[in-house]
Amino acid sequence: MLQALRDTTGAWSIWRPSKIVCVAKNYPAHAAEMQGSVPAAPCFFLKPNSSLCDFAGPLNPPRDRGAVHHELELGVLIGRRMAGGQAPIEIAGVVLAIDLTLREEQSRLKQAGQPWEASKAFAGSCPVSPLLPAAAVPDPQAAELEFRVNGERRQFGNTAQMVFPIDRLLREAAEIFGLEAGDLLLTGTPAGVGPLAPGDTFEGRINAHRCSGQLVA
Ligand code: ZN
Repeated sequence: MLQALRDTTGAWSIWRPSKIVCVAKNYPAHAAEMQGSVPAAPCFFLKPNSSLCDFAGPLNPPRDRGAVHHELELGVLIGRRMAGGQAPIEIAGVVLAIDLTLREEQSRLKQAGQPWEASKAFAGSCPVSPLLPAAAVPDPQAAELEFRVNGERRQFGNTAQMVFPIDRLLREAAEIFGLEAGDLLLTGTPAGVGPLAPGDTFEGRINAHRCSGQLVA
């Protein structure tokens, strides 16, 4: 599937990542709110291209499969192919992304010992903001993240709180999957995840960069 990724001028370019790599429980406070512990090594999962959509929405997640939760995350766009863990890292830019999660369905799948994809990789489960050039967030490992719903703060954290830093995530993901230029890595969510309802408006922020969106009413 082709996905248009906007740059900060508002222009659209065609973007076709080979994959979106995500990581579970990469902030201690989020692991705690999920009644879980921090994993000993990064726990990866993937989203397909059909999960990509525009952050602005209007988002239209499934309504008949239980609560849908927001997980605001820093997304890193890979600038150069990484065929193995030792390959040089080149970050082309960053996005704000939402790892939309059907939380009740995920709980059922976890309890049944089954993969989570149906709850996290469904069509439209990965809204992304316009691309910010790497220079706009000079230190992605020390950036403030915030997510507001209907004007009220829900999520707040700093990428410095990550359990596994971005470099390690990239190296391990490259070792396991191989990373291509244009692939996206979602780096995990800070605490404060919660439900989104039809008609909600939301705003994500990384440092001073904001992006807003809404759900279908
Ligand atoms: Zn997540």
